[in-house]
Formats: sequence, structure tokens, C-alpha cells
Amino acid sequence: MNLPTVENLILETPLYDKFTVSESDSQYLFSLIYFHDKIDGFCPFCDKVSTFRGTQSFPTFGPYKPTEYAELEEVSPNAFSDFFEKIYTVKLVCTRNESHPMQMSFYLTDGKLLKIGQFPSIADLSMPSLRKYREVLTSEKYKELRACLNFT
Ligand SMILES: [Zn+2]
Repeated sequence: MNLPTVENLILETPLYDKFTVSESDSQYLFSLIYFHDKIDGFCPFCDKVSTFRGTQSFPTFGPYKPTEYAELEEVSPNAFSDFFEKIYTVKLVCTRNESHPMQMSFYLTDGKLLKIGQFPSIADLSMPSLRKYREVLTSEKYKELRACLNFT
């Protein structure tokens, strides 16, 4: 499977889809693990589209830092293989209200990247696109639809 954009990986990619990553994807992995950008998405707490900001701490090590972090001090060299056999938590906050969290976990193992956890759920993040079904489904069926999406 081709790697989605980091934004797509965060907002839309279902749990447990596996993506092969190679050394040429080092920058990608770096910008995901140390996500420090902004992305627009639906905030279920605000109940409207908002902007989320990555709150990952900048790393101070490794040759795979994006060039914009080049001024950061090198503490210890980092090999591509050092990315693997680890679980990473990526945290973002809603810029309307920083107590609104978005958090996900990624597992890098055996040359593969997969998302293994996400909060809020993809169903909650895709609420605007689900709303159109709300009017035509009973509340029971609507709940079922949302529950199903959490397992896709
Ligand atoms: Zn919010």
C-alpha cells in the first residue's frame, strides 16, 4: 500500500492498515512521529471544523530531522532501524480550545507502519460526513453506523 500523506494518515486512515516504509521515508516518519504542523479537521468537542496543532516535542537527535530543525543539536546518531520496534504516541490539540485532544498511536515494526490507536475515533472525526445519514436513520441505526465505522 502506498503511504498516505501524514495528514491523511492522522485523520482518515483506518486502524491496522499496514504501510511498507523504507529508508527513503525517513523524513516522513520523522514528521509523523514528531508531528508539529497544523491540520484542519472536525473537532467533536467544538462540534465544528477546527484546526489541530501537533504538540510533539522536537527531537534533539538523529540525522533524519527535517531541514527546518537543522539548528537543533545532535545528541546521538540515529539509524533508520532505530525507528522500528517501537510504539509512538502523537498528540495534537484543538486550537479553539487546547483541552480538546486528538491522540493516536503508531507502531513501527518489521519495515511496516501501522496506526494502532486513535482518539477521537475516525467516526467522531468524520461526523460532518455522517450527519447526512442521521436524518434518514433511526437513532438506533445511526449509532450502529457509527459503531461500525469505528471498526473499519
Ligand atoms: Zn475543539
